[in-house]
Amino acid sequence: MGAKVTGSPLSGKTVYFPSMTEAGVRAIAAAFRSVGIDARPMPPSDEETMVLGGRHSSGEECLPLRVTLGDTLKLLVRGEISADRMALFMPTSDGPCRFGQYGPYIKGVLAEMGYGDVAVLSPGCQDGYSGIGEHADELLRTAWRAMVGAETLTKLLLRTRPYETGKGSADEAYRAALSDYCAAVESRGKDPKERMARLVESLARGRRMLRAVPADFSVPRPLIGIVGEIFCRLNTFSNDDAVRMVEDAGGECWISDVSEWLWYTNVAHIRLLKRFRRHLSMEMFGARLKWHFQHRDERQLFSVFGDDFRGYEEPHDIREILDLASPYLLPDGALGEMLLSVGKSAYLHRKGADGVLDINPFSCMNGIVSEAVYPRLSRDCDAMPVRVLYFDGTRTDRRYEMDIFMDLVREYMGRKRTARAFPPGMGGAAAASA
Ligand code: SF4
Repeated sequence: MGAKVTGSPLSGKTVYFPSMTEAGVRAIAAAFRSVGIDARPMPPSDEETMVLGGRHSSGEECLPLRVTLGDTLKLLVRGEISADRMALFMPTSDGPCRFGQYGPYIKGVLAEMGYGDVAVLSPGCQDGYSGIGEHADELLRTAWRAMVGAETLTKLLLRTRPYETGKGSADEAYRAALSDYCAAVESRGKDPKERMARLVESLARGRRMLRAVPADFSVPRPLIGIVGEIFCRLNTFSNDDAVRMVEDAGGECWISDVSEWLWYTNVAHIRLLKRFRRHLSMEMFGARLKWHFQHRDERQLFSVFGDDFRGYEEPHDIREILDLASPYLLPDGALGEMLLSVGKSAYLHRKGADGVLDINPFSCMNGIVSEAVYPRLSRDCDAMPVRVLYFDGTRTDRRYEMDIFMDLVREYMGRKRTARAFPPGMGGAAAASA
């Protein structure tokens, strides 16, 4: 771990990250540790999470709030950390969505329960990174690299696991690769180039581990895009591990990751500056510089994987997704995940995907708006099956629902007009005839 941060609001505290994704959260915590801040993911959510989160919310809040609040309280009531030593990482936004209320709401509950000393760290607020001080720039760059690398390993896991011939071997390789990568993120180097070289080496090792998993890629499975509200689609506890449900039903998943959201927030920031005619401001210069470095880092980290993701390429520019959403949602009227879900569904169709699942918390406005436009989008995409799933924390057996969806997907596979591209060694006869 790097030198301890002292004399700042975070000194002596441990920052906890809500476990949105196992990989992303572990990697981001490692990035924080690399600048001397003690940080760790929240322990896994469980039924106690829901009891505590439910007891201290009214029932009208979204599921991610209940899960995050419940996990935070669990740590405190079990005495695993004292309030004055705890900081909670809780991003926020100014948009119309309830998400912007999570941070203040959680702060209020903690204060009522006598845990008012917990610091809530909210990037996006003015004081977002004030506790990090001189390390803020370094942390932001390392965190971006951490996220991109960890998500790329996850992408390779999802491309491998459905085809493994020994149950559990892909997960085992993935966990080893992820631990190796987090260790590389955490270790400090002299300069960004040296640190990047270490990350690249670690990803190369991770790639070898995952490629060594015994697997049979000769018969491609239906490819299902997973879009929707960011926390619910990525948090396996909240969505009853929907990706595994699809895999158990015979499919393979391509999930929209956190990096996609971060690209979107960059574009939204630049658009806002343009709208207020701040084309030549320092803020615009900073936003463009960030865009440039993020692209450069991403290219370098992706280059490790060669052709592994042929057919699974993400758009070069997130604006492609926004353009694809524009026939269905007003570009300046609709914001956030609904744009990304709708645009990505159209994009997935172009990549030859066989169906889309849009995953949301019950009553999420993103899911509700997207669901309203999916019938038209599906018609425009050769009637590709698109299904919206809502989750509210109650455990429901969805196997029947999933089987029906997969039947529709297989029927679509037989008549679809957009062929899929495959990485080398995958696809067998399907690849040869494409
Ligand atoms: S995106 Fe959906 S789930 Fe998340 S805060 Fe907004 S309405 Fe709630």
